Amino acid sequence: MGTILLQGGTVLAHEGDRVKVLCNHDILIVGNRIEDIGQGLTLPDRSAVRVIDCQGKIVSPGFIDTHHHLWQSQMGGRFGNMKFMDYMVAGNIQSFNYTPEDIFWGQLAGCRESIHAGVTTVVDHAHMTYSPEHATEAIRASASSGLRTFFCYTPIWRIKSWTSDAPVEFDEDLLPEWWFSTLEFLGRSAPFGDGRVRLGLGFDDFKVPKETVRDLWARCRALGISLFTTHFVANYMKSTPIPSVLLTIYLDVLKYSHIVLDSVSLLKECALLNSTVIFSHINGIAESDAQTLLAHGAHFSSTPETELQMGLGEPVAFRPDLSSNASIGIDCHSNNSSDILTQLRLGMQHARGVENVQAIENGEYPNVNIKLEGMFNLGTIQGARAVNMADKIGSIEVNKLADIVIFDATSPGMVCAAEEDPLAAVLLHANVGDIEVVIVDGVVRKECGKLVDVQLYGGISGSPGEILHQREISKRLLESRGRIIEQGRGQDAGRGMEFLYKTFG
Ligand SMILES: [Zn+2]
Repeated sequence: MGTILLQGGTVLAHEGDRVKVLCNHDILIVGNRIEDIGQGLTLPDRSAVRVIDCQGKIVSPGFIDTHHHLWQSQMGGRFGNMKFMDYMVAGNIQSFNYTPEDIFWGQLAGCRESIHAGVTTVVDHAHMTYSPEHATEAIRASASSGLRTFFCYTPIWRIKSWTSDAPVEFDEDLLPEWWFSTLEFLGRSAPFGDGRVRLGLGFDDFKVPKETVRDLWARCRALGISLFTTHFVANYMKSTPIPSVLLTIYLDVLKYSHIVLDSVSLLKECALLNSTVIFSHINGIAESDAQTLLAHGAHFSSTPETELQMGLGEPVAFRPDLSSNASIGIDCHSNNSSDILTQLRLGMQHARGVENVQAIENGEYPNVNIKLEGMFNLGTIQGARAVNMADKIGSIEVNKLADIVIFDATSPGMVCAAEEDPLAAVLLHANVGDIEVVIVDGVVRKECGKLVDVQLYGGISGSPGEILHQREISKRLLESRGRIIEQGRGQDAGRGMEFLYKTFG
């Protein structure tokens, strides 16, 4: 970290929720903070300052992704024609086949893909915690990458044996003692990576007794954890036909389960529903749950690409009645790219389409009610609000952390749009190739359109290790991918599906 002057750029700044375009402005970064913004900033000693010429560039706040599983890199390209439950077998529960080393390379590559796409903060729903080392290696990778993240440590149903000729064996204790001792260790050690990697909790199994949920939240709060995240998809549960062969298992599970409230109601009843909770997806949420969520100040994350593909229903981030608490996420970069601008575009144009259809059905001429400014805010300041860091990230302001993305406004796709409307240029015309520079926490992580080399941490405490170029990272990632595929040979998908119905219900 040092002093950086971004000179003469077109800056997308904020005044509250209004986006304000500042032409020919400088931004002075000292350490990890924005020190000053203005025209023709003068510096007492320019020799110690790195100057980045931003003429012909658009300078944007870094984007914030509020739902992602960063460990899944090795499975990229596998799910393009899959629906949700098929992805769960071929993707979600494949963490069984990952060693801690595989998690490290998957996580590092996932973090770097995000930075490459201009994302500077990610809420990482880390549902791959097979052992303490799976968690610590993921954190080591996140800290090494330079990305700002919330590592949301998540208990999962852990497979013990998976073959084709017997039901999947799994650990029936969702929350064993080692899981709690790891939580304690991580909580006492956090944050990691110079403060960039914070600890959160991911939790998806609300079939456990309420006392367990209360106790878990209390333990987390005692450790200073202040972000909780959970998947919530009402539509899918309503619409999914359960194969008859699995129905018996499903009913068997329900018989022994406690009365299941949905997570919004349960957290409300436990007095745990507030602005520290992010619900992922919420497609098809009941009106009463939506009102409860809003009334308690909880947030949600829409991930348009996975939701539209995997039958979760219509993304709801742009619904006027819900958008105040909305933000945007990637979900699975194993299914789609980490380009958050694509998620914003898909989400917005889909929502405009829904409004158009309603207007046509009402015999009205369609209008464009959903505007670019709201779209930009979903990916920036509203993401910051979702992680309760709106005073530190999500917009370009003096004293905020220096998380900044610089676009080449003279690229073939952006050149005229940037003259007409810089906000439209970024939101509708830019691609990842137009992102020249990404700065996270005052450190340049991408420049001249390429990710810079990364110095790996020797441990989660941050001792410096080897320096790797992207070529070497890709090589190690492919080796890991080969190991994971080999490990998964002979594991019958039908047995995996049985396991999922039995554990998730
Ligand atoms: Zn997810």
